[in-house]
Amino acid sequence: MSIKLTKQRQEILDLIQASEGHMTADEIHTKLKENGKTVGIATIYRNLNVLYAEKMINRVRHPELGFIYDKNLHDHYHFRCKECNRILDVEIPYQDNLHELVEKELGCLVLEHDMSFEGICKECLQAKKDRKS
Ligand SMILES: [Zn+2]
Ligand SMILES: [Zn+2]
Repeated sequence: MSIKLTKQRQEILDLIQASEGHMTADEIHTKLKENGKTVGIATIYRNLNVLYAEKMINRVRHPELGFIYDKNLHDHYHFRCKECNRILDVEIPYQDNLHELVEKELGCLVLEHDMSFEGICKECLQAKKDRKS
């Protein structure tokens, strides 16, 4: 049983690592089915939780889709396109200086933060431009 789970976990990890970077549990479920593997959604969630707890994947909260699983393990921000719903990594430096501002404001200790941006991605902007011309 545990050997089988480990194999599934590896398959899920492989899928996320082969993706553009971010996948939902539903997408993983669909992909596994396409590859001829029937794995219940609950099992997928269980494996994702283990992978996340073992710091082998990252996750991001999405307002509509719930958690999105992320292969990019270092601290980074996200940009969501409102047109195509893609989630892109924003590789600007992690803004630790914000911690100090919040600490001064609340008198607390900040350990980490998360930021996400929303808008229209480069490809969708280009597509809009092409439609106009
Ligand atoms: Zn887009
Ligand atoms: Zn990411």
